Amino acid sequence: MEKIRKYLAQKLRVFDSSKYDGQSQQKTLRELSLNGVVEYIKENENLKIITMAGAGISTCKYLPAGIPDFRSPSSGLYHNLEKYNLPQPQAIFDLDFFMENPEPFFMLARELLPEGFKPTPCHYFIRLLWEKGMLLRHYTQNIDTLERMAGLPPEKLVEAHGTFHTGRCLKCRAPYTLPWMKKKIIEGIIPKCEECDEGVVKPDIVFFGEMLPERFHDLIERDFVQADLLIIMGSSLVVQPFASLVDRVRSNCPRLLINKEKVGVQDRLSRLLGLRQGLVFDTKGSHGGRDVAWLGDCNTGCQLLAEKLGWADELRDLVKKEHERLDAEEKTD
Ligand SMILES: [Zn+2]
Repeated sequence: MEKIRKYLAQKLRVFDSSKYDGQSQQKTLRELSLNGVVEYIKENENLKIITMAGAGISTCKYLPAGIPDFRSPSSGLYHNLEKYNLPQPQAIFDLDFFMENPEPFFMLARELLPEGFKPTPCHYFIRLLWEKGMLLRHYTQNIDTLERMAGLPPEKLVEAHGTFHTGRCLKCRAPYTLPWMKKKIIEGIIPKCEECDEGVVKPDIVFFGEMLPERFHDLIERDFVQADLLIIMGSSLVVQPFASLVDRVRSNCPRLLINKEKVGVQDRLSRLLGLRQGLVFDTKGSHGGRDVAWLGDCNTGCQLLAEKLGWADELRDLVKKEHERLDAEEKTD
């Protein structure tokens, strides 16, 4: 069985984390519930937490489903693209197509740009984890820059699908900032490079046909084997390679999912073969379960978690203070 497992791990290029298990410390959840996770956080000093997030953490009153993840085929983004006459909907994020015709992308970008969006309590909860010295890294699928806006330092952040925060000329690689690009995009002008006068400036979001950022590949190798707790929030865990990151933590590292529904669940074949593929909820008896699902809205989940940790006031004050600051900034713009 062990041989088969190793062979398949290699063949299917599934991450085989068993080789790291030797270093694992004997920390486990006493109870497979949110309370169990809270106790675990309270009891363990110098805890290293990795958070992973998807569109579900960026919900706001304008877009209750979150700013959609453009890489997800089920994303609502693709429903309204008929007017652009695309060969297929995903072409809007296809690099070759963009080189030929960048217009549809920039028209859509006008709707996508983080205008009037503010970070949510969930974003500020992640910032609190950082302020308390517990955040090893935050991995996000979101391109909306809300993590940065929430004050998470760039070195703690991996924007797996890139970001609108910066852009680059496709011809001479000259860098541009979000405010510069935003101004053009909102005016309905295709941003052209001021250095070479030729290239189109493309926001640094990862198009189809582009590699994920180097930073992503470098840091997943280092981070996940070190984590003592993984918190996954508002992701459908469908888009690869992001989804399979949950398999990279050590085999006894507790994983908490805060999401509207259970996702990323291990399928039967993987379970039979003993492969680490996905989350395993509802383990019975003394099977050493470690995965907890808290089902509901990400903000509610984070607020509840903060409350149980005794951070409720701190989180509320932080959200209030930061939102006031952002409102004031918007007015002076
Ligand atoms: Zn240029």
